[in-house]
Order: sequence, then C-alpha cells, then structure tokens
Amino acid sequence: MIDTPNSPNVTGHQGVGQDQFLKILSREEALSRFEAALFPRPMAVEKLPLADALGLALAENVVAPIDVPPFDRSNVDGFAVRSSDIGTATEGRPVRLMLNDETIACGVMPELMVQSGTATPIATGGPLPRGADAVVMVEHTHPAEGDAIEVRRSAAPGQFVSYAGSDIARGEILLRAGTVIGSREIGMLAACGIASVPVARKPRVAVLSTGDELVQPGEPLPPAGIYDTNGAIVAAAVSENGGEAAFLGSFPDDEASLERAMRRALAAHDMLILSGGTSKGAGDVSHRIVSRLGQPGIIAHGVALKPGKPLCLAVCNGKPVVILPGFPTSAMFTFHDMIVPALRRMAGLPPRTDMQVTARVPLRIASELGRTEFVMVSLVKGQEGLVAYPTGKGSGAITSFAQADGFIRIEALADHMPAGSETEVTLFTPQVRVPDLVIIGSHCTGLDRVVAPLAQDGFSARVLAVGSLGGLAAARRGECDLAPIHLLDEKTGRYNEPFLGEGLELVPGWRRMQGIVYRPGDDRFEGLDAQGAVRAALADPTCLMVNRNQGAGTRILIDSLLGDARPDGYWNQPRSHNAVAAAVAQKRADWGVTIAPVAKAAGLGFIPLAEEHYDFALVTARKDRPPVAAFLAALKSDECRAALEEAGFRPA
Ligand code: AMP
Ligand code: MG
Repeated sequence: MIDTPNSPNVTGHQGVGQDQFLKILSREEALSRFEAALFPRPMAVEKLPLADALGLALAENVVAPIDVPPFDRSNVDGFAVRSSDIGTATEGRPVRLMLNDETIACGVMPELMVQSGTATPIATGGPLPRGADAVVMVEHTHPAEGDAIEVRRSAAPGQFVSYAGSDIARGEILLRAGTVIGSREIGMLAACGIASVPVARKPRVAVLSTGDELVQPGEPLPPAGIYDTNGAIVAAAVSENGGEAAFLGSFPDDEASLERAMRRALAAHDMLILSGGTSKGAGDVSHRIVSRLGQPGIIAHGVALKPGKPLCLAVCNGKPVVILPGFPTSAMFTFHDMIVPALRRMAGLPPRTDMQVTARVPLRIASELGRTEFVMVSLVKGQEGLVAYPTGKGSGAITSFAQADGFIRIEALADHMPAGSETEVTLFTPQVRVPDLVIIGSHCTGLDRVVAPLAQDGFSARVLAVGSLGGLAAARRGECDLAPIHLLDEKTGRYNEPFLGEGLELVPGWRRMQGIVYRPGDDRFEGLDAQGAVRAALADPTCLMVNRNQGAGTRILIDSLLGDARPDGYWNQPRSHNAVAAAVAQKRADWGVTIAPVAKAAGLGFIPLAEEHYDFALVTARKDRPPVAAFLAALKSDECRAALEEAGFRPA
C-alpha cells in the first residue's frame, strides 16, 4: 500500500516551538469560536453603478419600479389585428383586411385604432395599437389589391403579444438581498431602468508577510533569502473570495516596526492577514503584537491541523486578525479551510460551491490521529467520476501546487482514509481542469522529453509518480491512459510484459541503467562490483543508505540486493530518482540505487546493476484518444529518440 509523502507515521519528535502551544483547539472548535466572535455583525453597504456591482452581494431587496415590458408588445414582424376578424382564415379561404395608414416601428406610439376589418403593420417590439388583440406573422399573409392583405391563418387572442408586466411586474421583488450579482442580474436591473444598487461593500483586507528572510519578487535573491510567496498568493486568494486585498509588503521580525505597520493596517482595513512568525519561537513576534491590538484578542493559537498547527485567529475590536503559518502550502490550506468562510460571510457572499467537487481516493492515505489533516490532490477522470491522487510533497513544497488541483481533509478522529472513499475536494481555483493525457506510474526524467512537446499540440498532460505497481493498478481502474513501468518478472527474467493482464498492452519505451550511486572517492565503494558494494556497505555500521518507496521498480531491485538486511537509512524512502541522488550528493546518505542519467547529472560514482526496461502499459480502450495518439507519435519521433539518447537513455 502506498502512503502519501505528507502523511508519514511520524511518532514522538515534536518541534521545540510547537511544544509551547499550551492550548491546542480542534479545527471545529477554533472555527466556531472565531465565527462566534465575528458574527452577527452589521454589513457595510455602499451604492455602486451596475458595472461595478458585478460579483458582489446585494445588500437589500430590489423592487421593480416599472412593468417590463412597459406596454403590450409585438413579438414578431407582422400585422396587428382583431383575432375575431380572422377566425375562419385558412390557406384555401384567406380573410381580406384593409391596411391602416401607419406602420408601427420600435419606439413609435400608434395613433390609429385597429377597427374591425383592418390591420396595422407592426415590427417586433412595437406597441400594440388600440383595438388589436393579436399579431399575425408576415409569413402567414399575402399582399392584396388596394392597400389590403390576405390573412391565411386564424389567431387566438394574445397571439405573439407580450403583455405589459408579463416579464417583471411593477412592485414585485426583482432581486432578493444576498443575491450575488452576475450578468443576468445586471440585465434584469438594467431592464427596469435601475443604474445603481446597494451592495455589501467588499471587506478591505490588508495582507502582510513577515520574516527576515523574505524578498519581494523582482528583487535579487541574497544568500539564504526566500521569495515572498504568501504575500502574492494570499492577496490573490482574498480577491477570489470577495475581498479587496491590499498587499502591504513583507516586514522583518522586528517587534516595534511590525507593530507600527500592523496598527496602521488595522486602522485602515476591515481585516488583517499576516503570514509567518506564528510559531512560539523567540523570533516569532506577530502573535505577541496581536495579543495587544484589541478585544477580545487571540481566539485560537495552535489548532489541531496538519499542516497548519501554528495558525493564529484573533478578533481585535470587531476586526478579524489572522496569522497564517509561514509555509506557503500550509498558508493556503488554512486560508481556504478556515478563513475563506468568514471572509465570504463578511462580503455577504454564500459559501463557495464552485470550489468543491466530490472525488474518490484511489489508495489508502495514512493520517495522524488527533489532527485534521490536509492532503494536496491531483484530479483525474476515473470510470465513475473524479479520482483524487495525493500529490503533496510536504508542507513547504510550493511546487506541489503545480500538480495539485486542490486538497482533501481527513478528519481528526480518523487515522487513515480508506482506499475508495468518496470525499470533498476543495479546489484552489474554480472549475476543475482535468488533463487531456494522464500518465500514472514510475517516475523517470526521460518522460519529460516525450511529454513536453505535447503542449505544442494543445494537449495538457499530467504525470503522477506512484511507482510501477501503483501505475498498473491505476491503469486497470481506468484512471490513466498510460502507466510507465519497470518491473522484472523473476521467474521468466522478462521485463514488464508478464505484468500486463487484460485490457493493457505494452508500448516499448527505453532502457536505462540502474546502479548503485556513491560519492566519488568513497573508498568503501570505489572499484567494486554491485554485490561487493552492498557487502561493503552492510559491513560498515556507519554507512547510511537511502531507499526508495514501496511499489517502485527500483525498490524491488534494492530489496533483492539486500535480502533480509535492514541497514540504517532503509526507512528513508523518497519517491524519485533525483531525491536519491540528492541525498547521496548532500551526504545525508552514502549509497542508494538510481539511474545512470541522474547519477551523471549529480556527479556521483556509479556501479551498474542492471539495464532495465522502462515501458508503458497502455490502456487499450484509450488507445485512439487524440492525446494518446500524439504521445505515441512523439515517442516514436526522431527528435524524441535523440533527446532521450542525449539524456543517457537507450530508446527501445
Ligand atoms: P515561520 O512561520 O515564519 O517560522 O516560517 C516557516 C517557513 O515558511 C520558513 O521556512 C519561512 O522561510 C517560510 N515562509 C514564511 N513566510 C513566507 C512567505 N511569505 N513566502 C514564502 N515562504 C515563507
Ligand atoms: Mg518567519
């Protein structure tokens, strides 16, 4: 079973700062205390021109000041008639009517009455003249001698007439308070002649980042500097949820200057959102400042969330003040889950339904008991609806946003979410964008060379690394188009093909040399073959290994090398070839198994183990889909083969 990387079963080992949270509230308790301190509250109302009211909530009922249409109106081009005159009209026995001496165009008030035996030409939208009770279409008439027409069909009273007030009746409630104003509502208001409406004023939200290390995008990055991600992302997410964001910049962890900035910001805004500096470490000053900004002050500091435990919620003299955790993904989880509901309520907006979808999780996701856990997910289309693959790489990983469509929540009382569970996904942006081509399975840097050119054909592709076995399972469940695999069948000595089964077919990919990596110059490994290197590693108790995740083809290779041995480092199980190389290069481990191109790029020593076959299990039923055909064509192309060779692979 494959666990997500951001839900390891870590035990013990709490951060020093986190131990200092004296009173940790559950997510639900923190939310309900925060809401109770904020609501009910008077809504700030302003009157805005229609165009500026788009997306805002109406603050009061709007009553229709006029009838729409304001008069009885013709719906077609034709003739205004008395229906009783033409009751007997047919194709064979038309009825002759004399034409009145006027033509009613749009915007022209009729002057002549339609007497019995007469008709008046009328345009679509023209007001019905006195005496007439129906309109016949011009197609059902024929010009006749002497200023007359022949009518060839009968008409019921009211035919092709919209009566005054039939759309909107004067005095009725046109739009109710709380309605979110869209183009349709703007149209209804305009039809009634209303030029401006009372709306809930957008809450003005000041956004500040804190941290000595922060640098604004566009500035050069000094050593140990970090670009301020939260400022931009929180401000944008505030705007997406009905607030008017003012990003005020990033501030060093200096209590005096930060306090001045926070007090100024709070005076000029309805809400204050900070990020960073919320742990209870010595350098973390924001929460101390918040505790003296106003009443009732801090409501929750330390919430049983994972990630997001240091979240701080406060209300200062009626205004919400929030300190989001510093890690961008933690900041986003907590913002969407805990802050958006209050922000929208202040903006008079209903909860966001376009930000929630239901999906099934394809595998068991382990979770810490006692904390509400957020897990980033990537959505793909399954046979019955959406499937949510966990993609998180830990709370600090901004790049996992690129793969993720949103996140799921595992309740505090669950220690895992079972495979197959249906769950709500909170989307990061409204509208799910399911990729055209889905590739789930083993990770390989060569894959980029095939997939990248597909964008030129207008296809979006998503590659999810879950290991070879996970990929095969996904392919069997119809969750992907292709599953890249490298699995050796020990009985037959053959790669991949013996594992396919019904509904899948093999598309040859490329060969890649797997081998043991070590830092060049490490005497324990120099000059040895693979068996010798493993023996040497096992003989030295200070020698640390780095493993691979369960389900990875490389892991099977490692397990067969190790037999029953479990050397130190065995439980360090990253999910990619690159992570193995990085661990060895950075001396967090002394040896591991990865592929030659990755070893070469990292400048590591390499002892060849076996050339393995990296192929694709193609879901036969999906073979003819255009994005799949484009992938298969790209794979065969000369450019792609050349690029693979250049990167150190051997195309099949
Ligand atoms: P803190 O909560 O201040 O201890 O920060 C936790 C982590 O998040 C640290 O690695 C910070 O560098 C990082 N961090 C804090 N604020 C931001 C930000 N605005 N943008 C990007 N990373 C941040
Ligand atoms: Mg900080």
